[in-house]
Amino acid sequence: MDIGPYSFDEYVHLVKSFHGHAAPGMIIGGIMVDIALNNKPAGELFDALCETANCLPDAVQLLTPCTMGNGWLRIVNLGRFSVTLYEKNGGEGVRVYLDSSTLDAWPAIKEWFFKLKPKKDQDSQALFEQIKDAGAKLCKVRSVHVHPRFMEKRSKGSIAVCPLCGEAYPSKDGEICLGCGDENPYTEFH
Ligand SMILES: [Zn+2]
Repeated sequence: MDIGPYSFDEYVHLVKSFHGHAAPGMIIGGIMVDIALNNKPAGELFDALCETANCLPDAVQLLTPCTMGNGWLRIVNLGRFSVTLYEKNGGEGVRVYLDSSTLDAWPAIKEWFFKLKPKKDQDSQALFEQIKDAGAKLCKVRSVHVHPRFMEKRSKGSIAVCPLCGEAYPSKDGEICLGCGDENPYTEFH
């Protein structure tokens, strides 16, 4: 089984260097992205939408030109293990998700996906073997049309200088920047 332009083992190696460890979600995520790439509508330019912040976005970033940094990957955190690739102007897309109804055939994957046992008690070797064995059979593919709000160009609009911190921020956020307001992430700042 290949994942994108890589063999399965090459992909696992890449995942380790990019993601820190060979997370099962990254391996299944790679399989899902590969399916999406093979089924996406015609057209050169596509964006990606992940319905979870876990693992899948990194698989998209490894296997497609879509990254968080270039704005072509969006996370809509619905908590579902699903990825959609869609034509960025028309919105026609393909959604790939892990079909939990298949998991009775792959008990180690089911155990991991539904967190049926603490991680330390899960059989990770069986898990990886089953993922490699199951491959695309774990997934379902649907045609979708994404909401127009995901096709809009994201513009920051005009930029202001915050009177409190002196840093630049989008003026649409109000009189002061969000960091000086309720969304300050720091408890100490020197
Ligand atoms: Zn500020």
